This record gives sequence, C-alpha cells and structure tokens, in this order.
Amino acid sequence: MFTLNEGEIIDSFQQLLDDLTTLAYGSYLCELVDISMVEGESSRLLFKQLITVFYLLRNNVGDLETLLRAFEIKLLKLTGYGLNTDYCVKCRKKITNSNYLSFESYGGICPECKKSGGRQISFASFKALSYLSNLELEKVYRVKLSSEVKNEIEIILQELILQSYGKKTKSLEILKGL
Ligand SMILES: [Zn+2]
Repeated sequence: MFTLNEGEIIDSFQQLLDDLTTLAYGSYLCELVDISMVEGESSRLLFKQLITVFYLLRNNVGDLETLLRAFEIKLLKLTGYGLNTDYCVKCRKKITNSNYLSFESYGGICPECKKSGGRQISFASFKALSYLSNLELEKVYRVKLSSEVKNEIEIILQELILQSYGKKTKSLEILKGL
C-alpha cells in the first residue's frame, strides 16, 4: 500500500456487508489473499480471481461453499502450490483418480506407488479437487457436491493452506462460532 498515492473506487462491494454470511466469506477471502502473499508482492491474476469471486458472492451464484473451495484451489495454484491431479507425484504415470493425496508433493499417488507423506482421500473428493482445479470460477455454480465431499475437501484445503503459508485464517471460525 505504501506505493499507492491516489485511487478511485470502482466497486466497494458494499452489499456484502448486509449479510453476515457474505460478510464473513468476503473477509475470509481477503484474509486468505493476505496470508498467501508477501508484503509488497503483487499478482494481477490473483486480483482478477478475487474480484470474480466477489461478484459471484454478491449475486449469490450457486453454492457458496463450493465457490470458496474453488477459490482456495486457485489461490494455492497462483502462489506456487498447485495440486497435481493428472499424474502420480511419485512415478509420473498418468492417473484419472486416486485415494491418496501427498502433502509433500501436492498431488495424487497411484495404486502401485508407496503411500507416504500425505493422507487418504475418498475417490469422490479427489475427483472434485481435480475438477475444480481445472474449472473457471464463473462455471463453479454448475458443480453439485455431496456434503461428505464438501466437508472432506474443506478439511484437506485448510490443512494445505496452513502448511503452505504457515498461518490460519480467523474469519470463518467466527462465522462457525455464531
Ligand atoms: Zn505412481
């Protein structure tokens, strides 16, 4: 911010403040971006994704939790922690699904390779992570996930965020505590 002398607000997303859920989600997104970047660093691509998710949030497009998960995946990718769901991270063989996610290498492990440095994941959740990582945010509203899958990928993404940035966010905890 120290290099900014003057600015004009194009859209303040004031409406997000009218609802407690969108307010908490909006704060959470800002907090996420804040912990994922170094002071003074800029990313035009990440900014574009953030604004897109704000518009979708304001217009209540689709399931908002799935939208948050999709944004978390994009954020990880744009800050150098993208998930590899197409190739086994150990033997580089092509995979279409996996039931083990390596936290060391940020990707799936095939049935032949030794499972280590990560955690078990259901095939449905792995597929969801893979699908969301290749999908534009504008199209996430079409995706319907079961509550089991949503819970599992939320836990996994929170663990990956903590591991990647070394920090936890507070906004969503506040919302859950209400
Ligand atoms: Zn393998």
